[in-house]
Amino acid sequence: MDWIRGHTIGHGSSAAVWAAKSRFSGEVFAVKSVELSKSQLLQKEQKILSELSSPYIVSYKGYDVTKEKEKLMFNLMMEYMPDGTLSDEIRKQDGWVNEPLIGYYTKQIVQGLEYLHSRGIAHCDIKGQNILLSKTGAKITDFGCSRWVDPANMDGGANPIGGTPMFMAPEVARGEEQGCPADIWGLGCTIIEMATGGSPWTNVTNSASLLYKIAFSGQSPEIPKILSLQARDFLNKCLIRDPRERWTAKELLKHPFLEESNLNSTSTNQNFVTRSPTSILDQDIWNSVEESETTILQTVSSPLRRLRDLSSNSGELNWRWNDDQMWITVRSSNNE
Ligand code: ATP
Repeated sequence: MDWIRGHTIGHGSSAAVWAAKSRFSGEVFAVKSVELSKSQLLQKEQKILSELSSPYIVSYKGYDVTKEKEKLMFNLMMEYMPDGTLSDEIRKQDGWVNEPLIGYYTKQIVQGLEYLHSRGIAHCDIKGQNILLSKTGAKITDFGCSRWVDPANMDGGANPIGGTPMFMAPEVARGEEQGCPADIWGLGCTIIEMATGGSPWTNVTNSASLLYKIAFSGQSPEIPKILSLQARDFLNKCLIRDPRERWTAKELLKHPFLEESNLNSTSTNQNFVTRSPTSILDQDIWNSVEESETTILQTVSSPLRRLRDLSSNSGELNWRWNDDQMWITVRSSNNE
């Protein structure tokens, strides 16, 4: 596809994402790019995304290699999601979203997870920042940590760990296993993010104590009291510490909290969401020169060692800090 790169719409720990436009059709899409020599993870993401097709997963549009400023770039093209991430939305909504909206987004995320898990894929990094929004609702994105799990053993076996510690399931923090049940735990943490705007774990001072608490304390994150009994029951099913007891996406879809969640995208936009007009499609993106820097990259040494202790076979690790919170993306480049 012949296309033009627009301006940056996001940065993650492994790549940057730009708006782009097809020269031929004028179609706008998103392109995630990284230097070809460092594109192992993005190529893995491309492979997984290219096999997926669901209204609850960001759509795959293709890939190519381009030469830009004497550098070869690997580019993954995806559907452009104009309303940003779920974490952005929570911030726009004064730091939390109301329960009907939590039910609406949660149902779509669970439908996306049910689709992924039924195909033997675990996402491995479910969090608000990896849920993208548009007028039709929420879609799962960022398959950089994802892995195929053995359909006969949905726990995923002894693959190296990946993901974001704040959203990590106990079995992952202990370095034991990372499969579909860990995505359900990540969903539970994401619901807490929606309900409170805060982290699932509080009173932790560094990532080593965070991981220790998740792995060995025997506790689950506190269930927000603001939620209804039904929503709290749903959340409890997501945050069962034993991955074998934790509900599956299929089971969660039958929970009354989701069965009775009847918001549709129209009523959501009209009655529950006050969107700020910051979508880049609302502006003229091709005239815009502003770049949005959304993430801070920083390397930290001692928590890194702690994580290495927890998972001796993790490869290269990338740390991403979100201000004062320990939301770090941990990636391994040798997990296939
Ligand atoms: P992470 O550190 O979370 O693993 P990453 O390097 O894999 O990040 P992404 O999370 O895929 O990168 O993308 C970074 C940011 O770019 C997102 O948080 C989002 O703001 C933006 N973004 C990504 N994909 C799209 C898309 N399809 N449409 C609109 N914005 C997007």
